[in-house]
Order: sequence, then structure tokens, then C-alpha cells
Amino acid sequence: MPLLPTWFSAAAAGVTGLVVGSFLNVVAYRLPAGKSLASPGSSCPHCAAPIRAWDNIPVLSWLVLGGRCRSCRAPISWQYPVVELMTGGLFAAVGARFPWSPLEVALLVFVAAGVVIAVIDIRERVIPAKLVWGAGLPGLGLLVLASLTAGTPGRLGLALGGGAAAFGAFYLVWYLRPGGIGFGDVRLAALLGLFVGWLGPGELFVALFAACLTGAAVGVPLALIGGGGRRLAIPFGPFLMVGSLIGIFAGPQLVHLWLG
Ligand SMILES: [Zn+2]
Repeated sequence: MPLLPTWFSAAAAGVTGLVVGSFLNVVAYRLPAGKSLASPGSSCPHCAAPIRAWDNIPVLSWLVLGGRCRSCRAPISWQYPVVELMTGGLFAAVGARFPWSPLEVALLVFVAAGVVIAVIDIRERVIPAKLVWGAGLPGLGLLVLASLTAGTPGRLGLALGGGAAAFGAFYLVWYLRPGGIGFGDVRLAALLGLFVGWLGPGELFVALFAACLTGAAVGVPLALIGGGGRRLAIPFGPFLMVGSLIGIFAGPQLVHLWLG
């Protein structure tokens, strides 16, 4: 039995998520531009006034300031509080479902990477390899720890096999259909396979299937409207993350439903 209740795990993870989300906004803005993540501190992109700690509280500051810079009153994008809220909500969900375990921390790393990757992919149409490795390496360490503490070392094989299988499948798609998905999607699929594969092959299958289904549901109509070019009209990274979440949270139920 865990020492602290599940709701506390969810609340702690949720608050952590709001703060992490605030940092992810910085990463999403600076990493593709090749800027340092550590310094300088945040400043208004419009008037360059430094943003004080008091005005940098996730979600709340944006609401208090009415979505505007304190100095020059230039609008601050709604994307900032949305990314913070999304990260907070997803962290809380992971904290509620996998309380007080190395698996919880592993999945929080995965979710954080997923949020920032989705934002960057939507904005820049690129999935930085740095972020995939940055989540994959510590994630692998945490999954080793999760396997050992849960007394299920075999799960590590599932994770590595899942990563390899997802990489292989997406590599094939990337190789056979140039101009379709990008190689960043292949790397991200491997990351998905590693984390979701640890939970089980059913969860992994649901995740990949849901990613393709949601991607097609949005992408095919857009491609038809846009004239049906060969290149995907939409970035695929966000759908890989949506699929992952469906696999993580609804995978067992969906597999059960499907198999009757
Ligand atoms: Zn300003």
C-alpha cells in the first residue's frame, strides 16, 4: 500500500504539471530557434520587458493580466495558459492512475516530452531528435526501475520490443512513402513503443491504431480540401501523442471490448 492517498498523488502531479507546462512553453519557443533554455529569463517578445516571477505563475498570471504584457499591454498568446493547463491535467491523470511508482515518473517524463513535441510539431513541422532522446534515455532508466520494483523484469523486454516494433513499422512507412511522414515521426513512434509497450502489447496496439485513426480522421478531409497533395496536410506528432494517451488510459478496456 502506498503511504499517501491517490488523490494526493494526482494533486501533486497536477501542480507539478502546471509548472512543467510553463517551462515547456519556454522550450517550445526557444529550442527550435536554437536559443539557450536557461538564460536569459523570460521577457516580453514585444517590448523586451523582463517578466517578473510574480507575473510568471502558470495560468493565474495570464488570467490576472487579462492575457496582456504588464508593461506594454501587448497580447500574450492563449497558447501559454493552454499548454500549462494541458500539462497539469495530463500530469494529474497520470498521478491518479499510476500513483507513487517509478512508472508514474516515467510516464510524466513521456507526457511532458509529448506535449512540447506536439506544440513544436504543430508550429514548426519538426520533431527535434534532442527531445526524443532527452525523454527516451531517462525514461529507459525509470522503466528499468519500474520493472524491478514491480517484480516484473520481463516488462523491460516488452518495452524494448515495443520500441523496436513501432520504429520498424514507421520506418517502413517512411521508407516506402517518401514525403508522407517525417523521420521525426519514426523516432517519436519508437519513444511511444518504449513507454506504452511497457504497459503491454494490447496498449501499444491501441495507441498506434488510435494515432493512425485520429490522424486520418483529421488529415484526410484536410488533404481533400487542400487539393490532395502527397504530403500530409498535418503534422503527425500530435496524433502519436493522442494515440499514446488513449493506449495508456483506455488500452486495456478497448482490447477487452474488441476481443469480446
Ligand atoms: Zn511587453
